[in-house]
Amino acid sequence: MPSASTIQMVTQLSYLVAAALFILGLKRMSSPVTAVSGVRWAGFGMLLATLVTLAYVMGAPSLNASSLNLMLMIGAIAAGGILAWVSGKRVAMTNMPQMIALYNGMGGGAAAAIAAVELYRGSEHSITHLAIATVGGFIGAVSFSGSLIAFAKLQGLITKSVRFGGQKFMNLGILLVTAAFGVMIVSGMQYGLPAISLFFAFALLLGIAMTLPIGGADMPVVISLYNALTGLAVGFEGFVLDNAAMIIAGTVVGSAGTLLTQLMAKAMNRSLANVLFSNFGETSSAGGAGVTGSQKAIEASDAGVMMAYSQKIIIVPGYGLAVAQAQHKVWELTQLLIDHGVKVRFAIHPVAGRMPGHMNVLLAEAGVPYDLISDLDEINAEFETADVALIIGANDVVNPDARANRASPIFGMPILNADKAKNVIVIKRGQGQGFSGIDNALFVLDQTRMLYGDAQAAVSQLIQAVKAAG
Ligand code: NAP
Repeated sequence: MPSASTIQMVTQLSYLVAAALFILGLKRMSSPVTAVSGVRWAGFGMLLATLVTLAYVMGAPSLNASSLNLMLMIGAIAAGGILAWVSGKRVAMTNMPQMIALYNGMGGGAAAAIAAVELYRGSEHSITHLAIATVGGFIGAVSFSGSLIAFAKLQGLITKSVRFGGQKFMNLGILLVTAAFGVMIVSGMQYGLPAISLFFAFALLLGIAMTLPIGGADMPVVISLYNALTGLAVGFEGFVLDNAAMIIAGTVVGSAGTLLTQLMAKAMNRSLANVLFSNFGETSSAGGAGVTGSQKAIEASDAGVMMAYSQKIIIVPGYGLAVAQAQHKVWELTQLLIDHGVKVRFAIHPVAGRMPGHMNVLLAEAGVPYDLISDLDEINAEFETADVALIIGANDVVNPDARANRASPIFGMPILNADKAKNVIVIKRGQGQGFSGIDNALFVLDQTRMLYGDAQAAVSQLIQAVKAAG
């Protein structure tokens, strides 16, 4: 039997290896080429940290874990592992944001549960220890309930954004009550079951109350904010448990999530405060953007001829391309057009699809070379020189109202300037709205033609039409 100090040293070394795997994994996730291996590296790090912790708890006599405790731990690891494996295998790419929201929530909830246990032990701990547990527990609980509401909204279980006068003051009130209970617990005035239960109940309520009014188009920012908060909560509870792997993993997730939140907010041209406390993306004013005029349809054969004789085409992929899994057909069409001497570029909006980098991942999967892909800042000036902007299943990210119509709920969000192209061809199934639930002025412009149909089928027809055009 190895000595206690040997067990301790091996455990800490394993945590260091796990932490290095998290960081290297994250680094690899920043490019679509290495992203898959990055996920594997980080996942392996997590597996290592979990198994080492379990072995440590089993082996350390000082912890005195009962066999019931061990059985509960093994049962939880098995149940969590199986559920995550099965749901990860089954989830459609387009439902990934919901899944991320749910996993965020679980992380926050787990951190809050650790805090609850430590707080119930109360007087055994120093004030600093209790304060760290309380702050981590608060953040974890807010992130847990907020993420569940975000999940319900993305899943379509909650369709309305609940707003009423004085809502911000009510939220401030809930925050103050939660803080008051937190102070009572940490100061030792109250650390019994009722105070701790009320503390968590109000923190959970705050997460719900904060998230309910947030509109659809802001969900990407909210999800990444809760991701950052969950990381922070886990980091705090890592200090409470004196667990290096949790501290490092929590800090890495917290800082990565914070950067992502900033990037997403910037992509929507909004400050975080604006996302949390204003009415952007309100769907009850849906269609209120005041779009008038009618959409004009085009046949694939005519669209194909127009494209075959173009000099420059900019393709704008969106959520509908992901739903239809049309990326391979789109690449086939692109190669055909390039063979015809057409200059083809892809324009990617930072919030196109349903998760950050969604379009880049799909195009990479189909083998589209990176030098054909440009982001919003790089390509926006080029639409004016494009003969055709081909919009495939995108909607909100090309809505000119965001630029020109102050009354639009998405006014101020940077968009791809597809409306500046000489001709616009839009592939979508019908008159359906995008994620933010508003009409799109682009679809009724003089130079716009609608090619109705599922993206994969429509792009296949375009391929035939371009071939037929010679
Ligand atoms: P979008 O505005 O949601 O519009 C997608 C369009 O695709 C719909 O209008 C729909 O119209 C069409 N469509 C659906 N299925 C289709 C199919 N099988 N074939 C062809 N078309 C199909 O998409 P987007 O322009 O990519 O904008 C993304 C939106 O999602 C933004 O509002 C963004 O804020 C939000 N969001 C983004 C993220 C992120 O991280 N990227 C996360 C959450 C939310 P039809 O029904 O008529 O076909």
